[in-house]
Formats: sequence, C-alpha cells, structure tokens
Amino acid sequence: MLAIQVKSKSMKVFIVYAHAEPRSFNGAMLQVAEDTLPEEGHTVVVSDLYGMRFNPISDRRNFTTVKDADYFKQQVEELNATVVGGFAPDIEAELRKMEECDLMIWQFPLWWFGLPGILKGWVDRVFAMGRTYGGDRFYENGVFKGKRAVLSLTTGGPEAAYKKGGWNGDIHAVLRPVERGILRFTGWDVLAPNIVYAPVRVTKDERSAALAAWASRLRAIGTEQPVEVGEY
Ligand SMILES: Cc1cc2nc3c(=O)[nH]c(=O)nc-3n(C[C@H](O)[C@H](O)[C@H](O)COP(=O)(O)OP(=O)(O)OC[C@H]3O[C@@H](n4cnc5c(N)ncnc54)[C@H](O)[C@@H]3O)c2cc1C
Repeated sequence: MLAIQVKSKSMKVFIVYAHAEPRSFNGAMLQVAEDTLPEEGHTVVVSDLYGMRFNPISDRRNFTTVKDADYFKQQVEELNATVVGGFAPDIEAELRKMEECDLMIWQFPLWWFGLPGILKGWVDRVFAMGRTYGGDRFYENGVFKGKRAVLSLTTGGPEAAYKKGGWNGDIHAVLRPVERGILRFTGWDVLAPNIVYAPVRVTKDERSAALAAWASRLRAIGTEQPVEVGEY
C-alpha cells in the first residue's frame, strides 16, 4: 500500500532569537528551526536580537513623529504613530514581520523567571498600542487573531524544580505573564511551550535528543492545536 504523507500548508514563520552566543544551546535550537522548517516547505524570517544589536530602550526613538513634544507618554505616541505611520524603521520592520507571519517562535533562555531584557525590550517597543492592541481588540478578538505563537526556551533549573510545589514552582505559572499577558492579550493562539530543562546539566546525548525532539515537533507544528493559557 502507498504511504501518503500529509504535509501541513506552507507557513511564514518568524523567529525571534535572544542569545548572545551563537554556539549556545539556544543557538543550536535556532539552527534546528532554520534547517527543519524550510524542509517542510515553510519560509523562515529570523530576528537575531543580539546580532542586530536591537535597542531595547523604549523612548522617543520608537517614533519618527511627535504627538506631544512637551510630555512623553508612550501609548499616546503609539496611537498617533499608528494613525500617521510614524514608527521608527527598526520598530516598523519588526511589526511587519509579526503582521506577515503565520507562526511566531521566541527562542530564549529563561532569565529571572522571565524574558531576557533584550527580548522584553523588544516587546516593550514593538507591541505598540493601536497597532497591536486597543479599542475592542484584545484576547479572542485581538489584532493577531488566527496567528499562532510558541515559546521555545531553556532553563538552568531541572524539570523537577519547575513542577507545582517544586523548588521554583510551576513553569506554566512562570510563563503565564508572557503567554497570557503579551501573546494571548494581543490575539495570538498559543501553542504548548517547548522547554529544554537544564541543557548545561544533562549529557551531550540528552541534548542531542532534545534538538531532535524539537525538529520532530517542528515538522508537524502546522497541525498543532493551541493550548488554553488560562485565567488567573
Ligand atoms: C541573567 C540570568 C538569569 C537567569 N535566570 C534563570 C531563571 O530564572 N531560571 C532558570 O532556571 N535559569 C536561569 N538562568 C540560567 C539560564 O536559563 C541557562 O543558563 C540557559 O537557559 C541555558 O541555555 P544556553 O543556551 O545558554 O546553554 P549553553 O550553556 O550555551 O549550552 C549548554 C550546553 O549545550 C552545549 N551545546 C551547544 N550546542 C549543542 C549541540 N548542537 N548539541 C549538543 N550540545 C550543544 C553547549 O556546548 C553547552 O555545553 C539565568 C541565567 C542568567 C545569565
């Protein structure tokens, strides 16, 4: 009998990568995605935040326009920039990458139970009011409705430390501010996070297995269903 391989439809995948060392395990995870996704017919765009020397400081440099020259209020300037097309080129470029993608992947190490500063700064600057949320466009009616996003992260602590009642507490509670407060808030359907626990502490074979598992997951990610990130 003929084996029929069902491929998911081709997607535009946008990867936001936040690690300063190309030979890091996060760098290897990025490489796996860059190799695997095109093999499945998907196109990949990467924002390598350190490589781009992305400026994480949010201030008037986010804009080419000025609504109130006397008092800087970011969301007022964002609303104005949304109407008049006044985002600085570095912000506009990132906004378009999000707007044009079907799937967004964030590849990062967990830092202080959250995003590395450069990635948080990217969020602070790029997720602009008006353009990415606001009016009645939140959660299920959010601007990015119909698009999917997934966090792909590594930790220093082992899996046991990130269980409910464990040393650091439930990893899903740790990730909730990002998954709900940023992604779901702006309308993204959130896929289950891809977590590689403590790559530093495991054997090389276990790291290789984690990379292979990521490749295997990516091959079928087009047909994955979103998870419920939950209310508080
Ligand atoms: C400021 C800061 C805050 C932090 N906060 C937290 C926190 O809140 N919670 C927490 O759990 N941890 C925390 N950490 C730890 C951090 O999350 C981990 O160090 C990080 O996730 C490990 O990922 P990495 O890519 O940097 O690993 P690396 O140290 O770069 O890599 C791990 C190992 O994988 C190897 N490797 C690379 N490529 C491959 C390959 N292709 N195949 C096989 N092996 C490979 C590397 O050589 C290395 O031996 C923090 C760290 C910092 C600096």
